[in-house]
Parts: sequence; structure tokens; C-alpha cells
Amino acid sequence: MEKEEIEGYSIAEAVAEARRCLNCPKPLCRTGCPIENDIPAFNHAVSLGNFGDAFSIISQRSNLPAICGRVCPHENQCEGHCVLNKAGKAIHIGKIERFVADFEADAKLAKDNKIQKIEGKVAVIGSGPAGLTVAGDLARKGYEVVVYESESEPGGVLLYGIPEFRLPKDVVRRTTKKIEELGVKYITNTVIGRDLTVDELFKDGFDAVFIGTGTALAKSLDLPGKDLTGVIQSNYFLRMVRLYQDGNVEKTEVPVEEGDNVVVIGAGNVAMDACRTAVRMKAASVTVAYRKTEEFMRAAKAEYEGAIKDGVSFKWEHAPVEFVGENGRVTGLKCQTPEGEVVLPANKILLAIGSRPAARILSTTEGIDADESGYVITRQRPYGMSTRRGIFAGGDVVHKPATVVLAMREAKKVAVGISEFIEAKKLLGE
Ligand SMILES: Cc1cc2nc3c(=O)[nH]c(=O)nc-3n(C[C@H](O)[C@H](O)[C@H](O)COP(=O)(O)OP(=O)(O)OC[C@H]3O[C@@H](n4cnc5c(N)ncnc54)[C@H](O)[C@@H]3O)c2cc1C
Repeated sequence: MEKEEIEGYSIAEAVAEARRCLNCPKPLCRTGCPIENDIPAFNHAVSLGNFGDAFSIISQRSNLPAICGRVCPHENQCEGHCVLNKAGKAIHIGKIERFVADFEADAKLAKDNKIQKIEGKVAVIGSGPAGLTVAGDLARKGYEVVVYESESEPGGVLLYGIPEFRLPKDVVRRTTKKIEELGVKYITNTVIGRDLTVDELFKDGFDAVFIGTGTALAKSLDLPGKDLTGVIQSNYFLRMVRLYQDGNVEKTEVPVEEGDNVVVIGAGNVAMDACRTAVRMKAASVTVAYRKTEEFMRAAKAEYEGAIKDGVSFKWEHAPVEFVGENGRVTGLKCQTPEGEVVLPANKILLAIGSRPAARILSTTEGIDADESGYVITRQRPYGMSTRRGIFAGGDVVHKPATVVLAMREAKKVAVGISEFIEAKKLLGE
């Protein structure tokens, strides 16, 4: 299995780092965290060597600490708000969080409060960060929760998108297992809208349904040559690499091979993962083409720096105008630049220009309104409920492709909305 790129802290390093925390009376790091993790409190616990306590503190706000500790854009969030930033010495909060979660996975020190079961049954569709958060939060409240997932394992993008060198599969698996231990049941290989409908879920006795299906449809570029062999979606490429690493497909099925000349279109997180994974598949050259300047790049800084370190070259202000080809195969990407048209030679072009929700659930369920791009419209009270009573939604399927922690933040609020809805139903004797 491929080694994780960034090493975690040792005990001594974690304690030393946590001791640098000033325990500010108004902790800006906490304000900077979308889920308002009690960062000073867990830093304090780590500084005393109380790692189990630190894990319990983090768990009050997060079901996915080992994941957030690795993939959150900390530089814009907690660490970006740390007062020590002024001196260029922000606490490495993400690495401390990761240490605490990894330590707990081995030591199992934290004591989980016994969950008191209460009446109410919730179906969660999708097991990405949004679905896992809703499932974990509602299971902790005592509801019966069943998660339906179309893939063969829970985890969503965490498992099939973000590559192993950034987020090891083991870390995702132990996180989903921990949520399962709260009483959540996973039903995998089940596509809602095909194998089961939302109406059938209600007939099975669920009180509420949560849609956390993300944005599964990758956008394509409607340019001449778009159907040439070698023009590939990055999400597909990343998924195939994952399946190959798991031994589920042959290497020949991975669409980037040793010696390929690869151009990646886009400059977000997906583009960074695609270009860095292409390097790891031993492509001869990897170039990122982006239509705007560097300052508009949406990828996390660490990922961009990682890509440069990996040897990826970046072409700014290169707006694709045509996929150039010969005998049905792509040979290059023609781009408009401020200096005129250029062709970047490539036998593989990976698209990473965004994605949007699939229509499968909405097209098989009456009464759920969406905007013109397919994003589910939800309301404030109860938080996250769609235009159809009892059906809630959250994460990327509502708020457009964002980040793990933003999907979690919304999902936490929706979990409260679902609980309020079920309690009201019970009160009314429905
Ligand atoms: C390659 C890549 C790299 C990224 N890197 C980062 C990063 O470093 N940091 C960061 O914070 N964010 C990153 N993101 C963004 C982040 O992963 C997403 O914002 C987040 O996963 C959204 O969570 P979600 O739960 O809404 O949706 P998803 O994670 O997309 O989960 C949706 C789940 O629903 C399932 N599903 C869909 N339709 C159905 C159906 N009909 N029936 C049953 N199941 C269904 C899917 O299989 C999937 O498991 C990245 C995204 C990608 C694609």
C-alpha cells in the first residue's frame, strides 16, 4: 500500500506542539473552525498527555477527526485564525487533531457514553462526510439510523476520490467502523432511485430521509474533439486507481499509464489529486492547464505546493479551445493564452472542472424541488428539510462542491433539524 505523504506526530511532538497553545480567552481558532471544535480544550488535554480526554472533546463536535486532521484546509480555517500566525508560528492544529484520532484508534482510551435508544428511524442516503455526520449525530441521540450507499463500502469521496497518499483507506475504514459502533447500520451496493425508492423507504417505516448524495456528475467540456480517446474525467481516473490499489481491477484498466504525457484541466482539489496521482502512476510529464491566473486557483495551498514538489508544471491563463487528435486519439490540448494559441502535447487529458448532482433520486421522488443545476432546495426550519415533508438534504448536493468540513457543518445542523422534526411528529402522535 502506498505510504502516506505527510508523517504524523510522535507523542513527544504532539505534546510539545499542544503546549505552545496560548489558550486564548477568545479562541479565534475555534471561530475559524466551521464546526467550532473546542481546539484550546483539546490542545490543553494533549499538553497534559490526556489523549483519551482530547478525543472525547473532539468527538463532541466531529465524527471524522482523523479525516479532518488530514484533509481540511487548515491554513484558511483554525490555523489561519490562530493568533500566533502573526509571528508565523501558528499551532499545527490539524496535525494535533490527527495525532489524537490516530492515537485513540490504537489505544481506545476514550469512554463512549452509553446511548439511550429513543423512538425514531432515519434513512441516510450516501455515506460521504455529510451522510456520516448526520448518521453519527442522530445515532448518538439514540435514533435508529440506516445508511444506504451505492458503492460497495461506506466513505464516499473520502474512499474513492481523495488518494491514498493523502488519506489512507484504513483511516476512512476505521472512521466508518467507529460510526457503525454507535449503532448505525450500513446497507451498501444499493442505489436509491434504482434499487429502492425514497417512497419505499417511508413505507419501510422511516420517519425521515436524509439525502447526502454529493455531486456525482462530473462536468465535461463541450469543445471540438471532446470524444477523442484519451479525454478522461479525473474522478473516473482517481476511482480506477483506488480500485487497482485494492486489487479489484487490473493496472491496464487505470486510464493513465507509465510514460503518458498528461494534461489536467482545472485547478481545484480534484485537479491537484489527479495531477499528483498521474505522477505516481509514472506519467512522463504532467501539466496543469488553468484558464485564469494563479491567484484564482481553488486548490488548497498545501496541495499546490505538493504538486510542484512532485514535478507538475502549471500553465496559467491557458483557456482550452480544442482537444487536438489523430486517428481518434487525443494528441494535445489547444489553449488560448494572452500570447495567442498554443498546443500542449498530451496523450491523456484529465478533466477536473467541477461536478453537479445526479438526478436519480429527484427524478424518482415526487415533490423535491431543486434549482436549475439540480441542487436540492432546503429550508431553515426545520433546518435542511426539502420542499417535501420529512425529506432532508445536506452537503454538496445542496451547497455545491465544497469541502469535507463544510459538508459536515451543514450536516450537523440538518441532524438537529431531523431530530426536531421527529420529536414534533411524536408529539403530534403521527
Ligand atoms: C478528488 C477530490 C478531492 C477532494 N479533496 C478534498 C480535500 O482535500 N479537502 C476537503 O475538505 N475536501 C475535498 N474534496 C471535497 C469533499 O470531498 C466534498 O466536498 C465532500 O466529500 C462532500 O461530502 P458529501 O457527503 O456531501 O458528498 P460525497 O462525499 O460525494 O458523498 C456522497 C455519497 O453518496 C453516494 N450516493 C450518491 N448517489 C447515491 C444513490 N442514489 N444511492 C445511494 N448512494 C448514493 C455516493 O456513492 C457517495 O458515497 C475533494 C473532492 C474530490 C472529488
